[in-house]
Amino acid sequence: MTTNGLRLGLIGYPVEHSLSPRLHQAALQSTGLKGEYRLYPILPRPEEVVEMRTLVDMLRRQEIHGLNVTIPYKEEITTFLDDMTPTARVIGATNTILCSDGRAVGDNTDAPGFWADLDRLFPHLTEHPTSALILGAGGAARAVAYALLQAGWEIAIAARRIGQAKELIQGLSGALETNLMRAMQLSSPAIGDWLASSNKSSPGNTLIVNATPVGMSPYPDASPWPAGVRIPEGAIVYDLVYNPAETLLVRLARQRGLEAASGLGMLVEQAALAFERWTGVRPDRQAMYQAVSNR
Ligand code: NAP
Repeated sequence: MTTNGLRLGLIGYPVEHSLSPRLHQAALQSTGLKGEYRLYPILPRPEEVVEMRTLVDMLRRQEIHGLNVTIPYKEEITTFLDDMTPTARVIGATNTILCSDGRAVGDNTDAPGFWADLDRLFPHLTEHPTSALILGAGGAARAVAYALLQAGWEIAIAARRIGQAKELIQGLSGALETNLMRAMQLSSPAIGDWLASSNKSSPGNTLIVNATPVGMSPYPDASPWPAGVRIPEGAIVYDLVYNPAETLLVRLARQRGLEAASGLGMLVEQAALAFERWTGVRPDRQAMYQAVSNR
């Protein structure tokens, strides 16, 4: 680290509304480390995308000490890196880049961040693997599926394009040598049938995870849950969307007396884990949470 402190930042587009600067400022403050967290907006145009190479080179030279990566570059960034952690490689996406012996290494803290928050909120659930239904089959769904499969869960992926769900399963089942996954259409009949059969085969708590952006501001009146299907008794709902703080899906579940959470805790955890990878120091999660909960 230089005398000016740590230089951290976020690559993506758009990034101006990102909560990461607040999270990492709080992390710096809570650890007493000096530094800054900058935004690096990179327009998705070939002449701008090469800028990512420059930033990664700066990280190799330790002129930058840590980078986060967000939409739309979590996959594309891989071409500029020297290596990936097993987690990032299997998930096929990088949200954190660190420098190890002059090499730029891609990591993924979404998966452990999701698991840590699930464990914080619902420890009874993480102690006893059961079955989960994940809505959506994009990058976040892959991270959630990876975390759950590592812990021995059985999972179903429901996507509006069933081909995308099948692709996700093919990728993860090969890498993790598991057959605990199935793909389905994100539709009322398919989910209704799955709930009926999973209740019979594993009557424990079903975890329902929203990994689509449906319900996110500026469309907070939308829910990804299919119309006409009742969220089953005993289900626990985890919505990765964190803006608004209580999504419609979370509100509907709570109104039914079910346990439910939105993704703010995961956002804090994935940032805290990235900070730990870069600095080796554990930041105060509560301070980070407070920095983003009163928006
Ligand atoms: P992504 O890669 O674009 O994947 C989104 C998935 O949702 C795709 O399967 C997409 O299907 C599906 N989808 C989009 N609109 C839909 C709709 N109207 N109905 C049904 N399915 C729809 O995005 P991502 O990176 O996985 O992120 C997903 C959500 O998770 C975002 O809201 C993101 O902010 C949130 N997230 C939160 C955290 C956290 O820390 N809490 C971390 C990561 C992500 P198509 O491909 O067909 O569009």
